[in-house]
Amino acid sequence: MITVRVREKFEMQVITSKLSTKFSDVVNPYGGHGTINGDQTDFEIGQRSDGSIVLCCDRRLNWSDNCLVAGVTCDRQKIHAQGFVKTVMGAYSDYAFKREHRDYFYRSVYEFGLSVGESDWSRVHTLVFDITNLVFLGNSNSSGGFWPFGDTLKVELEGIELTFKKLPDYEMVVDRLNDEGGTATTCQLEIEIGSHNEHDVTRVVRNACSLLSLARGIQINWITCRHFDDAGNNFFTLHRSTVTSSFQDFEVIESTHLDATERFLIDTYPTFSAQNTQYKYSQFAHVLVDIQSAGFLETRCLALYTAVETLSRKVNNRKSINGKRVTLKKRLYDFMVHHQVPVFVCSNGKCLDKSAKCMENCDIGFYVKCRNKLVHQSEFYSGNPKNEYKRNINLFHKMLLRALNYNYKYINWHDGWNMKGQSSEDLSKGPFMLSNPQTF
Ligand SMILES: [Zn+2]
Repeated sequence: MITVRVREKFEMQVITSKLSTKFSDVVNPYGGHGTINGDQTDFEIGQRSDGSIVLCCDRRLNWSDNCLVAGVTCDRQKIHAQGFVKTVMGAYSDYAFKREHRDYFYRSVYEFGLSVGESDWSRVHTLVFDITNLVFLGNSNSSGGFWPFGDTLKVELEGIELTFKKLPDYEMVVDRLNDEGGTATTCQLEIEIGSHNEHDVTRVVRNACSLLSLARGIQINWITCRHFDDAGNNFFTLHRSTVTSSFQDFEVIESTHLDATERFLIDTYPTFSAQNTQYKYSQFAHVLVDIQSAGFLETRCLALYTAVETLSRKVNNRKSINGKRVTLKKRLYDFMVHHQVPVFVCSNGKCLDKSAKCMENCDIGFYVKCRNKLVHQSEFYSGNPKNEYKRNINLFHKMLLRALNYNYKYINWHDGWNMKGQSSEDLSKGPFMLSNPQTF
């Protein structure tokens, strides 16, 4: 008797969830009825672990259609979805009908929003976000144990307490990400909102995701946000298919350092939050993620050089001083001195003078040579492109971290970044002045 029941239940699940059958990573798809672009239909909609939204219906939609789904779920909750879709496949599904019946599966491209339930900020007690690709060492333990390497990272930003909790299958998911790359949810972020308004909480979460992306060198985002009331009812859920990037172990702030992540967030947050509108630090986080991803080294270096130069204008954005054109070297020199970036530069900026050339290990001189060769002649400066990339990316890391007022441990990619734990150095000393620049 029991066996039969189990089988019935199993078969029900298979029949009712075409999406879970097609995409094994879709959990709890929403079945619903309503309209898709104005036409009445039944549909199923859900989210995959990489954030993308998938849709199954018997309507044929064009590739670049802006798709608008409006209706109710089987348990009478409002459902709304909108964005661009891409056809995955059309499948024959039911031969019982005389006419040919097809189910079409679609996957979102770019941003696609899906909301279930009704939003009401006055009812919100707790927000729970699903966060992708974040790897971290906790600073506390949800079970309250004494073991310092906890499963929870707590940090307070703008008076709002953020609690990142590893998911139960965290170790397995991180193993898989390390092995295969890709995107997956690794943890949840919980916030008891107290008296904070929606605008402030949203900003803090957005800023924290940008800073964490910068720290880990990969895109870290929330893809799901659940609203709970004080009785613990989930009355509204927002899914978004934010563009994510594949997981890679290219950290700038070490995930296995006990307090580096927490300290990084606390130290950089005030500057990031106050200056992001003016200096677009969130864009620099995107550039950093991109130039550390797979792709042609030339393209990544060009993006890197653009970012370094845009960032250098933060300190000196003048075209000329006393009728003299402000050179790239001068801009970089002023930046290093202003933000105390630990780099090697020729003493008193002697190399800024046309009559002097840079010493062998002047970081600014090396950067400018690499940059000019690639920008003007589409060639790497030296016979070792990887070294150019690593040395200049290290320069960018240091500039960005110091601009954000960070003064503690980071990973130096140039001096053996893959020797995890041994390449960690701090940013509290610099710049180093090189004496006696060579002259022509
Ligand atoms: Zn120099």
